Amino acid sequence: MLYPQEFDVIVVGGGHAGTEAALAAARMGQGTLLLTHNIETLGQMSCNPSIGGIGKGHLVKEVDALGGAMALATDEGGIQFRILNASKGPAVRATRAQADRVLYKAAIRRMLENQPQLWLFQQAVDDLLLEGDRVVGAVTQLGIRFRSRSVVLTAGTFLDGRIHVGLKHYPAGRAGDPPAVSLSARLKELQLPQGRLKTGTPPRIDGRSIDFSKCEEQPGDGMPGGVNEGVLPVFSFMGSARMHPRQVPCWITHTNARTHAIIRSGFDRSPLFTGTIEGVGPRYCPSVEDKVQRFADKDSHQIFLEPEGLSTHEVYPNGISTSLPFDVQYDLVRSLPGLENAHILRPGYAIEYDYFDPCALRSNFETRQIRGLFFAGQINGTTGYEEAAAQGLFAGINAALQCRGEAAWLPGREQAYLGVLVDDLITKGVSEPYRMFTSRAEFRLQLREDNADLRLTEAGRRMGLVDDARWDAFGRKRDAVLRETERLKSTWVNPRNLPATESERVLGKHIGHEYSLFELLRRPGVGYSDLMSLDGGRYACADVSRETLGALSAVVLEQVEIAAKYAGYIDRQKGEVERAAHFEKLRLPADLDYMQVTALSIEARQALNRHRPETLGQASRITGVTPAAISLLMVHLKKGG
Ligand code: FAD
Repeated sequence: MLYPQEFDVIVVGGGHAGTEAALAAARMGQGTLLLTHNIETLGQMSCNPSIGGIGKGHLVKEVDALGGAMALATDEGGIQFRILNASKGPAVRATRAQADRVLYKAAIRRMLENQPQLWLFQQAVDDLLLEGDRVVGAVTQLGIRFRSRSVVLTAGTFLDGRIHVGLKHYPAGRAGDPPAVSLSARLKELQLPQGRLKTGTPPRIDGRSIDFSKCEEQPGDGMPGGVNEGVLPVFSFMGSARMHPRQVPCWITHTNARTHAIIRSGFDRSPLFTGTIEGVGPRYCPSVEDKVQRFADKDSHQIFLEPEGLSTHEVYPNGISTSLPFDVQYDLVRSLPGLENAHILRPGYAIEYDYFDPCALRSNFETRQIRGLFFAGQINGTTGYEEAAAQGLFAGINAALQCRGEAAWLPGREQAYLGVLVDDLITKGVSEPYRMFTSRAEFRLQLREDNADLRLTEAGRRMGLVDDARWDAFGRKRDAVLRETERLKSTWVNPRNLPATESERVLGKHIGHEYSLFELLRRPGVGYSDLMSLDGGRYACADVSRETLGALSAVVLEQVEIAAKYAGYIDRQKGEVERAAHFEKLRLPADLDYMQVTALSIEARQALNRHRPETLGQASRITGVTPAAISLLMVHLKKGG
């Protein structure tokens, strides 16, 4: 049957990429259909129930700044929040939350069901509808043909997915879900370049069988006994601690010599070591057998026992992801202090799946081969909910822009982690599952969690992604930051004339001169609280309305303080960005045959022909293209070659 309604955008897959893609396209006014295996698993966390972390939290805040769902759902579902790297510089500070997976999923589903212009439909997609080199829709398992102007494919770990536990293996998309076999075969037939990757997950434990008295308690920030008691972190720029459900602690236990001996005894039946698994796994999220083999001299590893929710006893033991046979899993779990009598609710496993080479995507994530077909999420060789959500949002935006006949939105590496993620994927490709780190961003001082809204919300508003409530809140914050910065710059004080205070002691060495408050704030060891007393205790945001004062003031003061403290570094980084801008954005001719640019080495010519970069900046980041090759390419272009 041909479905009577025609859509602008079809999104295939209701994971983290698919849900953000569908919401973004619909927010931008495009008639959007989200086709997924099972409506009950929309927004499902396949692995650990946690969102954020270093680099990943940055992506979540960016998705949020563009009106996305992940941060708000985390604020509604988060049962423990922490600010990682709190004592380090602001660039690497990151929010991480433990989520109740049921509450998280419910929040995502509610947002999807209430989004105008978005329709949901439960069916597996088996095929794509093509006309020439253009996709025009998707065909489901029942043979229903849905027509659309673009398709965003976000099939996660499902394409030809195969689960491994010991030497046993069977087809699946993840435990309990079917794989996408027909769609995988169709994509192979279309000869889109692809490969196999793998990831894994630990066995889950019934918390009633854990003796927590033998484990170390780890309260979240803001919880009794935790950092900053009484002040719970918040993920979304529109969130508040009032949205959080009850907060609970996590627990820590450790592996020991016996655990490691048990793990080693299973190596001969491990699909990782016997060669049954061909796909490469995530280096930064290794299985416990990988850790024991690679770091043989380490006699203990930390294991976090993380609750999966408020309405379940299920516990996620973070750090023992494994595909060892079940009998080995059973013994290894019971060798951990506190888990001597543990009951396993679900076995751990590894999953192998198809991914598609992201170098075969254009800058907007559209496949080069098939017009209107976009890929996002784990299918592009990444790992992680946050990386998937960010890509989904990006692909949803660009599919919608294409439908509107508008130019693609391509944030730069200096503007967003999203820009870094997209650029890394399309210029370098992946040889192992890609995850985000702050070290991947060369301009990380300006790509902070705290200013993601200042970097992106205006662009989001222009494209139609940001609603009035968010736009108003953003405007109030931006204006308050500007006003407060101006006030600090134009208020001059002479610390000598002020009564003896704690701040004066801190500022003692500066006594005798007039300083603007802004200049004083730049000094090491001088904080906002010192300025407050110098400034006669005048509240920094006195002109912000009363109801927003409480929530707004802390974030405004944080912005102003960071801008002051890091002004020198930030200005230097801005200078670097400006100097690189022309070179970065210089467009390369789409039809340039690099094999004819004989001044270049064969390696550089082959790499450029394979990747077909759209800008000189992208070309410079391709493996095998040296700075010398870029200079030669510029000479070639100047000559009009
Ligand atoms: P998914 O979340 O996989 O969602 C895919 C969606 O597409 C599903 O809703 C599925 O039903 C739907 N779908 C697929 N094919 C079709 C089709 N043909 N028709 C209709 N619907 C379809 N990440 C980490 O960061 N750390 C980890 O340790 C980690 N471990 C993992 C362990 C396991 C076992 C698994 C399965 C994943 C793990 N991940 C881990 C990865 C994390 O789950 C993914 O990165 C993330 O969920 C990817 O999001 P996605 O939206 O791309 O795909």
